[in-house]
Amino acid sequence: MSHPHQFDLFVIGGGSGGVRAARWAAQRGARVALAEAAALGGTCVNVGCIPKKLYSYAAHYAHDLRDAAGFGWQLKPPGFDWSVLKANRAREILRLNGIYEQLLLGAGVQVVRGWASLADAHTVHVQSAGGLETFTARHILLATGGTPVVPEVAGAELGVSSDAMFDLDPFPRRLVVVGGGYIACEFASIFHSLGAKVHLLYRGEQVLRGFDDDVRQFVATHFLREGIDLRLGMEAVSLARGAGGIDVALQDGTTLQADTVLFATGRVPNVSGLGLEDAGVEQGRNGAIVVDRHYRTSVPSIHAVGDVTARVQLTPVALGEAMAVVDHLFGEGRRVLDYEIIPTAVFTHPNVGTAGLTERQARERFGKVTVFRTDFKPLRHTLTENPERCLMKLVVDANSDRVVGLHMVGPDAGEIVQGFAVAMRAGATKALFDSTLGIHPTIAEEFVTLR
Ligand code: FAD
Ligand code: NDP
Repeated sequence: MSHPHQFDLFVIGGGSGGVRAARWAAQRGARVALAEAAALGGTCVNVGCIPKKLYSYAAHYAHDLRDAAGFGWQLKPPGFDWSVLKANRAREILRLNGIYEQLLLGAGVQVVRGWASLADAHTVHVQSAGGLETFTARHILLATGGTPVVPEVAGAELGVSSDAMFDLDPFPRRLVVVGGGYIACEFASIFHSLGAKVHLLYRGEQVLRGFDDDVRQFVATHFLREGIDLRLGMEAVSLARGAGGIDVALQDGTTLQADTVLFATGRVPNVSGLGLEDAGVEQGRNGAIVVDRHYRTSVPSIHAVGDVTARVQLTPVALGEAMAVVDHLFGEGRRVLDYEIIPTAVFTHPNVGTAGLTERQARERFGKVTVFRTDFKPLRHTLTENPERCLMKLVVDANSDRVVGLHMVGPDAGEIVQGFAVAMRAGATKALFDSTLGIHPTIAEEFVTLR
């Protein structure tokens, strides 16, 4: 059989979705190339999940070191060296970049370094330092991710996005965070724990919109108790350089001074300069690429996955979509991603972990629901002076007895909720939870002892 195109699949973007798709397709015998303009691994590896989680671990030490006294450890006041954390993180990320490259090359993927754009339904141009190259492919996959968006505030250029937070120099003693979503809450919590005075400004009524209301309230209460200056219903109206740093004027007429202002105000699809118009690819809100249930765009030979489709912006979702596309194009075509129960965590201190519906969503969908909730002092804090508490909540469809929502704020919530998400996807009922023995003494056992 003759091959009119150089490749079976050309992937644009070497982040979570793109790398997984390229590897999977190559492992299934397809001839694959992948173009990446920056570092391999994309947002998650370079400026997202991984460095953020490493910094979150660093933050947890601040609490652990304080708590240690209650267990008899007599420590000198510990010092924190931001430059050591930054250097160790940078070294680890570089190692991961290399691993990603080896994974691709090992699978037989041709890696093209440069900025890619569509010329037509089967043709990609890649602009690199070496010049312009042209490639043709039977299928093209767009996995170009997203990019932070900053509000139109006077002086906004004095602020930074999360991309810059990992390498700040020096460590910001005073940090203003604008936003109330995942990134705002995670960075506010991490930098507070590492020693910054953090002001968190959120325009809405409560942080973490979309999460269960009890979780949102619990996180906000915890932030305030810890000393994060959380201001709800508050916006920054302008930024200006002042004698003592950045002056952040607020809508109530007051001013905050900061060393760093983080805009954690959402992300938009990375589509500029991608040639979508040239190829005739339909776009939706904020330029998001519109796809059908098989991730096919309005041009049948072009597919898109991950953040560039602006649906659920999480790495496991980008990975799952990538594997579904590859299975559809080069496999048995059976793999479908179920978006119904997507477990997720917010890596604040303590963590938020959640799977399924919020209480409000469950009431809207099922009418009658039963809610089981506990809010307690974890065993380890009986010996510390840490006032931290733990929230656990189950939302049950009263009709079927199925657990349709599971929420937690507490230590390792992400780790705990992952396993329960499997049970929920299997349709576990509250009766099944009740008949499962706990592991004692743990925090997780509360989910099977809630009555
Ligand atoms: P990306 O990973 O963004 O990859 C896109 C790649 O395409 C980039 O490398 C980019 O350089 C490249 N590219 C773009 N345009 C072109 C072009 N024209 N030519 C060549 N290359 C191009 N998710 C979680 O699940 N858990 C977390 O804890 C988590 N933490 C996060 C923390 C932060 C601070 C941020 C910003 C995000 C976080 N996310 C987290 C979200 C997660 O990182 C993204 O959902 C995920 O990376 C999306 O993968 P993707 O493949 O769609 O895009
Ligand atoms: P989110 O969409 O989660 O939150 C954006 C926040 O900014 C919201 O609170 C929003 O308010 C607020 N906002 C938006 N526009 C403005 C504005 N003009 N002025 C003031 N506030 C504004 O985005 P993030 O940037 O936090 O993160 C992007 C995505 O990355 C997340 O949605 C998540 O999918 C992913 N992510 C996942 C993580 C994880 O899994 N742990 C960690 C970090 C990111 P409002 O609610 O009123 O709209």
